[in-house]
Amino acid sequence: MKLSSFGEKFTSNSGILSLMDDLGNALASGEDMIMMGGGNPAHIPEVETAFKLRLQRILDNHDEFVRLIGTYDAPQGNKSFIDALVKLLNNHFGWGLKAENIALTNGSQNAFFMLFNLFAGDYSDGSQRQIQLPLAPEYIGYADAGLSQNFFTATRPEIEHLEDNLFKYRVDFSNIEIGKKTGAICVSRPTNPTGNVITDEEVARLDSMAQAQEIPLIIDGAYGQPFPNLLFTPATPMWNRNTILCLSLSKLGLPALRTGIVIADEAIIRALTGVNAILSLAPNSAGSLLALDMIRDGSILHLSDNVIRPFYQQRALAAADHLRSKLGSYNFHIHKPEGAMFLWLWFEGLPISSLELYNRLKARGVLVVSGHYFFPGMEQDWRHSHECIRVTYTRSPAEVQRGLEIIAEEVIRAYNEG
Ligand code: PLP
Repeated sequence: MKLSSFGEKFTSNSGILSLMDDLGNALASGEDMIMMGGGNPAHIPEVETAFKLRLQRILDNHDEFVRLIGTYDAPQGNKSFIDALVKLLNNHFGWGLKAENIALTNGSQNAFFMLFNLFAGDYSDGSQRQIQLPLAPEYIGYADAGLSQNFFTATRPEIEHLEDNLFKYRVDFSNIEIGKKTGAICVSRPTNPTGNVITDEEVARLDSMAQAQEIPLIIDGAYGQPFPNLLFTPATPMWNRNTILCLSLSKLGLPALRTGIVIADEAIIRALTGVNAILSLAPNSAGSLLALDMIRDGSILHLSDNVIRPFYQQRALAAADHLRSKLGSYNFHIHKPEGAMFLWLWFEGLPISSLELYNRLKARGVLVVSGHYFFPGMEQDWRHSHECIRVTYTRSPAEVQRGLEIIAEEVIRAYNEG
């Protein structure tokens, strides 16, 4: 089969594809794997009950049922949902949004594909631009989303050591290169894979760099404010006309309904609406319909702040404590868990690579993700990127504890090989 360069690009080995395949195959193998690799949100009973009740109300109302399954929404997304979200965000943050500032997409992954290719790649004047990721490690899902080569540039962070085996990445502003070749800046806040939350000052500096260059600052709030609000540290949400804020209903507990939300300047929303129409006719209606009431009455905030966030925060702290009790005397560090649903573990000086550690753990029935995947756009190899793994702590506490024990055993064995 002969494929176009588009075909070649999307059928060649991509990090996200091999990762998703690996996770899927492990699940399908029937073996009793401890899944600490994926980004699936936890199944939280209170959240499931809230959505079940809402779904039942939709099923009991014929008009709503028809909207759920039998009507295309507009390419910008469901109007009632967008209106309700505009109100909620304006009441909460005073951003002065209008309906023209919001578009829905089939998951935020899909929004990143559209946005990245709107701002990076080939321009009609013959120039080429890239997406700058100011703080690597960054979300693996960005890595293959560009339609051309050399699509991303990334900057190595500064590492700040903290007490209790903790560390925190900081944006290294002295090394960021933003110039004529930069199409947009993008950062996830909180960050997948590290659980880092870039500070208000870092956001403000990135915002002013983006404005000075007249390029957008894309903030990926898949885990962020105001929902699902998986932040365990104070942080101020930021939006202005130069910011593209991407939200998602996935980490609230609706990943299967593929609903992403983009909040941006009107011209960007018009562009996204056009791409939505071409790629999908319309975004999925189910997520926006299921969450509509919760957006209207604000209960989505209550659910996020009082149920979802405490659930993850408690899990994060318990997992970190457990690991410290096993590995505290080794040269081992945990990125300060400030948000999202992962622990990012750094085994400094480990004699084996993170990929080898991943394989050894897989053989012991524990699936994690090797850290080296999370450095899209980074040109120079960096030993640090082969010393880290990402661990998801969303499974049952007993399963997580068992998984962490096996991780600790394998890490100690590897250190002793050195
Ligand atoms: N951004 C980040 C940082 C993520 O971790 C994910 C999914 O794991 C996404 C975006 C995409 O999520 P979705 O397409 O389900 O909205």
